[in-house]
Amino acid sequence: MEDYLSQLNDAQRLPVLQKDGPMIVIAGAGSGKTRVLTLRIAYLMQQGVDPFNILALTFTNKAAREMKNRIAEIVGASESKNLWMGTFHSVFARLLRMQADKLGYPSNFTIYDSQDSQRLTSAIIKEMGLDKDVYKYKQIFSRISSLKNSLITVRAYFADPDLQEADAMARRPRFGDIYKEYVERCFKAGAMDFDDLLLKTNELLNRFPDVLAKYQHRFQYILVDEYQDTNHSQYLIVKALSDKFQNICVVGDDAQSIYAFRGANINNILNFQRDYDDVKAYRLEQNYRSTKNIVEAANSIIEHNKTKLDKVVWTANNDGPKIIVHRLMSDAEEGRFVASSIWENKMNKQLGNDQFAILYRTNAQSRAMEDALRKRDIPYRIYGGLSFYQRKEVKDVLSYLRLIVNPKDEEAIKRVINYPARGIGATTIDKLIVAAKQYDKSLFEIIENIDRVEANINGGTKTKLRNFATMIKSFQALEETQNVFELTEYVIKKSALLTELKKDGSQEGISRIENIEELLNGMRDFVEGQQEIADARGSLAEFLEDVALATDLDKDTGDTDRVSLMTVHLSKGLEFPYLYIVGMEEDLFPSGMSMNTREELEEERRLFYVALTRAEHQAYLTYTLSRYRWGKLVDAEPSRFITEIDDQYLEYTTPMDDYKYKSAMTDHLWDEPDKSKLRQTKPRSGTPPTVSKPSEEQIRKLRKMRPVSTSTNPAPAGFEGDLKPGTKVSHARFGQGTVVNLEGIGGEKKAEINFQVGGLKKLLLRFAKLEVV
Ligand code: ATP
Ligand code: MG
Repeated sequence: MEDYLSQLNDAQRLPVLQKDGPMIVIAGAGSGKTRVLTLRIAYLMQQGVDPFNILALTFTNKAAREMKNRIAEIVGASESKNLWMGTFHSVFARLLRMQADKLGYPSNFTIYDSQDSQRLTSAIIKEMGLDKDVYKYKQIFSRISSLKNSLITVRAYFADPDLQEADAMARRPRFGDIYKEYVERCFKAGAMDFDDLLLKTNELLNRFPDVLAKYQHRFQYILVDEYQDTNHSQYLIVKALSDKFQNICVVGDDAQSIYAFRGANINNILNFQRDYDDVKAYRLEQNYRSTKNIVEAANSIIEHNKTKLDKVVWTANNDGPKIIVHRLMSDAEEGRFVASSIWENKMNKQLGNDQFAILYRTNAQSRAMEDALRKRDIPYRIYGGLSFYQRKEVKDVLSYLRLIVNPKDEEAIKRVINYPARGIGATTIDKLIVAAKQYDKSLFEIIENIDRVEANINGGTKTKLRNFATMIKSFQALEETQNVFELTEYVIKKSALLTELKKDGSQEGISRIENIEELLNGMRDFVEGQQEIADARGSLAEFLEDVALATDLDKDTGDTDRVSLMTVHLSKGLEFPYLYIVGMEEDLFPSGMSMNTREELEEERRLFYVALTRAEHQAYLTYTLSRYRWGKLVDAEPSRFITEIDDQYLEYTTPMDDYKYKSAMTDHLWDEPDKSKLRQTKPRSGTPPTVSKPSEEQIRKLRKMRPVSTSTNPAPAGFEGDLKPGTKVSHARFGQGTVVNLEGIGGEKKAEINFQVGGLKKLLLRFAKLEVV
């Protein structure tokens, strides 16, 4: 066993060595909270605590895996395997499976992901004949979700006139009925949504004292990372389970609380000392992650928040380079800047792609980054957005599998009953749903008994329905003998899904088939992985559970040498040597939708604090002067967060110039990029190459500044001359071409140009670097 305690400083060692009792570690970013939690588990085991009695809750399953691996290095793999570790959702889904019957659920219940939940909500709104513009399904679902996370069940909702009145005021008086129907439909389908996994766990622990006692006894030591982002439902679970032994250790940072919009309650951290007796509170102050510049810049940002605990964060690390602030004209240019800067850093410092991350406030911003990275052949990976398992073709296959495990699963049936086409139309499905309601049965039960129910369905269609049910049952019979991989191969052939996909020879069609292959590969790995674990269940149900709860962050692909792209929210807990935070603009970051109250603005600021503190060595902040929002080009102003950072930590640089654009085409010729040359290129008139942070006056001007149209604008001007179809032009990057078409007026004017080398391109003239030849 290695001497892992020497990997801790004195302050970190205290909470690790306190074996029993409630404790809280509140400390700033990068101060070793996660490390403390990890090594504390190793220490407990070394002190003789049985790993079966330890429960650790993390923000992602990936974080849990990494922790487990680290612990395995210290205490050995055979012991650490028995730890209960994972996200709230995955740990309690597992627990619920064992106790599902108590709640009237089958143990093979389906987990509806957010896509399933939203589809169901939308279907209910339609069935009830409500106006979908008033009852917006996403809003309705998020209200359902937040009620559940506050443990307000349908019954509690209807018992509370205030809640009902709030919905009436919001012009959705039927909300309660939708909520009720939604809950009933999930129950009848044998399905739990994400919020149910927490709500039902609470229900289980409240209603069954023997179950509570059992798990209190089981989880004698509980540890929670990122405690500041637990919601009420999660809080109550932890409170109930730890009540007996009170061996609870939570770590967190109030300054990194960023999920209030999803119900996270910062009071959970603030009130911890009131909730338990004799709480030991620990503070860590030394940051090991980042340079002095980054640590101090982050401190200077969070200073602007009124609601915060007093904390000190310092570091013994080097000053490091200043944070670079860079202004660009458009998101495309921003992408090119980031890509070429990554390229340059890689070349100059011989770095791998995995040393870099690009963070943005909204998923939509990734496109411009992707385009630019692809042009430079820089491999990247996007986290978040639609996960692999939510892609249509993958989800279709999974829906067949879900039906094998749980034929009541309504959302799965609706997806595949007529895909590939079997002549079972939407009207038939509507009739089945009505019948299911009348008979109080699941959809599948109606289909199975279609000859015995009154559903006004004709003979031909009945036969098709019977055939569908028979097919699903034949798959079920196979499940007993075949593993997940074999079964799935069989299913996609027999259901004619593969034939259907192969009909589409387009590039997209091919990539859909590739995704199915990828899914099969994953299954093969799963099957092989299961064979190594002695007590593995290895079932299809287990595979589906993994899939339903897999966040994108969890998927480890073999090739990790990639630039990481993700939203700031997802970056929590992670660290990267080189970090680009893009879109540092008012209304984007801080988000325009989160500036109505001081609380919202402070949450945005914490979000920025989280973002910046991911950087180890060098951070870049970029903003543009105009950006497409909601399909329209709008002027943008630099984010107030930039100006909130203390002067001394920033270096303002100029927009990229032509040399850079040209270099984009000759990247592959670079043996050794000549940085001095880049620096020497002549700045555009009126723009000094490097300016120190602007004064208050200048910032005001900067904010008022509009691209191109105003004469005081120092930014590079686009093409202003006359173009007609047929005009021959030359472009700094694309070379020679001919104008084919013109559209739009004023600042939105675009030219479609056929370039000799690059082919057809549409360029916004206000930015295009064109010359008539
Ligand atoms: P966050 O608030 O972002 O989640 P954290 O407080 O959990 O951060 P860790 O991720 O545990 O911080 O640690 C930050 C970095 O510092 C990690 O790379 C970790 O390995 C390193 N580190 C922590 N403590 C020490 C130490 N005593 N000596 C050397 N490195 C350390
Ligand atoms: Mg951490």
